[in-house]
Formats: sequence, structure tokens, C-alpha cells
Amino acid sequence: MLNNFSTDLLRWYRLNKRDLPWRRTKDPYKIWVSEIMLQQTTVSTVIAYYERWIETFPTIHDLAGASLQRVLKQWQGLGYYNRAKNLHKAAGILIKEHGGVLPKDPRGIRALPGFGPYTTGSVLSIAYDIPLTIIDANVRRVAMRLLALPGVADIKKDPKINDFLIKVLPDRQVGDFNQALMELGALVCRAREPLCMSCPVKKYCEAYRAGNQEIIPETKKRMIKDLKAVIAIIKNADSYFIQKRPSKGLLADLWEFPGGKIKPGESKKKALARELKEELGVKLKSSTHLFDVIHFYTQFRVTLSVFICTLENDPKEDKYRKWVTFENFSKYPMPSGSAKIIDKLKK
Ligand code: SF4
Repeated sequence: MLNNFSTDLLRWYRLNKRDLPWRRTKDPYKIWVSEIMLQQTTVSTVIAYYERWIETFPTIHDLAGASLQRVLKQWQGLGYYNRAKNLHKAAGILIKEHGGVLPKDPRGIRALPGFGPYTTGSVLSIAYDIPLTIIDANVRRVAMRLLALPGVADIKKDPKINDFLIKVLPDRQVGDFNQALMELGALVCRAREPLCMSCPVKKYCEAYRAGNQEIIPETKKRMIKDLKAVIAIIKNADSYFIQKRPSKGLLADLWEFPGGKIKPGESKKKALARELKEELGVKLKSSTHLFDVIHFYTQFRVTLSVFICTLENDPKEDKYRKWVTFENFSKYPMPSGSAKIIDKLKK
């Protein structure tokens, strides 16, 4: 029954795949970069980042030789900055230990930072045609419908899905097959309103046969937390004061304006004075509210209340704290919330 599954899917892929920049290459490095960028990020967002990245760091050598600050700057706005740090770290290891080439052996590649089962399978199958299955959110949804697996789409379903994928994986064109499944999930077997009438594998689909494809998988309710924070704009002539975040934790190593979360029961002005004292050891003289910026992260929504501040004493510069002009902001990697603040300040 499943004999022609891969042939049908591959034929559809050849005729319908999107022309994406990383599909025009077999360079393992470029495929690796695209696969890392595509995790948690949409194709339309990734295209411009990918093209800029490849122009800036065309080879593993160029990436390994760049400073972390430059690497993070190129990544700015894509989020999940550990992905960029791991790319940089792994590039250094590849130069030192593998002659600057991505190994073909799954165990060798898994030992590199940032290579879990998905990245290992996708890079090795697409770049080297090594027969490995991969499961991302699109593949999981498509397979759950093909097999009519009930419940939410989570990793508990993966062993069953993997058994199925091993059965239908072709002997050749494994990379194309894996990309075809992901493409099917993105274009046809969409999360909402799957286009079953145009589906090349509908004759194999249990959910379509039973007519319950719209309710597989069950949708998870996401709890979004609301956070409120104050941000201090400290200006001296045409320079603004920014500081570097710690090297561990959320948004590690990025630069931002001083400020922080408002504690329960605390007023914005009190929070501002406290944060400035704690972070910079300076005393707030006066502050004026400029505007609010709302920014969404995966698990929470943060409202940043931005104030222009006058201080009793100037903050001190060091390795982690700098006065920076508008022109020089481009040298400092920043979280998207801070980048939005800069855009508003410019206006
Ligand atoms: Fe998805 Fe419909 Fe195709 Fe089944 S028939 S795989 S539900 S698009």
C-alpha cells in the first residue's frame, strides 16, 4: 500500500517546491546555516537573514574567524540567540578538529554544539543524502494525519512517526524526500484548513479517509504571560548609554538600554530609580515618559515603558557599559525590543 508513497511525494515536490536560496546549493555549510535559521522562524523571515549571513560569512572559515559580537549582530532580530552562538562555536571546532568540513558521520556531527537529532538528520540527508529521517513540526503534523494519530502534536508521537518514516524513506533522494514532507506540511497539509483535494498523498491518508483531518492534531492552549518593564534612556550630547547583558540566560551577551521588570506593587518611577541604582549605581534626578513598546516572545508579552532620564551622577563606562551614538548602534547586537526603541527614538 505504501510502495509508491515516496515516488508520489517526490514527483509533487519536483513540480511544486518553492525556489529558496538554500535549495540552490549542495554546500553542507550553507544547508546547515539555513536549517538552524529555519528552526522557530518562518521561511519568509529567514530568506533575507540567510542571504546577508552568507554574504558576510561565505565559508566555515569566515564564520570561525569572526568575533562573537559580529556574529550576534548578523543574527539580530531572529531571536533564540543560542543558535548563532552554537553556529560560531561549532565552526571553531570544525576548523580545529575536522579541517573545516562538516563530518558525514552522524556521531561526529552530533558532538558539535547545536546538533540535535533534527539538525543532524536534516543536514546529513540534504547535504550528503545520508538515509536519516527527520521530524519537525510540519512533518509531525503531516504524519499524525497520515496515520490518524489522536492527541496533541508532541514528541511522544515521534517513535510511531519515525517507524512510519523508516518504512517510506526512499533509497535515493533522501534529502529531497525529507524536504518534500516539510514542504507538504507548509503548503498543503497546513495546520489550519489542509488542502486535501490537492494533496499528492491523500490516498495514503487515514485522517482524510475518516474525514477528521481538521481536528488532528488537537490544538494546545498557549499561556502567554504579561510582563511590564521600565527602560531608561540616558543621553549625553548625541550619545546614549547602553550595557551588555550577562553571558548566561535570556538574551545573553546582547546590548540594551538600562532598566528592568517592575516589581508587584511598584510604580514605574520607583522601578526606574531602583533599576538605575542596582544596575549602574546612579541616582535618578528626574524622568519623563516617552512612549511604550510592546514586544512578543514565545511565552510572554512585555510592555516596555521608555523614559528619558536625568541623573545626579553620570554612569561609568567600562567593557560592559558604553556611550554610543546613533550611527554606532549598528555595531552592537541588541534584542528586538531595544531595536524597536531605537527606531522610535530616531523618529
Ligand atoms: Fe494532510 Fe489532507 Fe494530505 Fe492527509 S490528505 S496528508 S490531511 S493534506
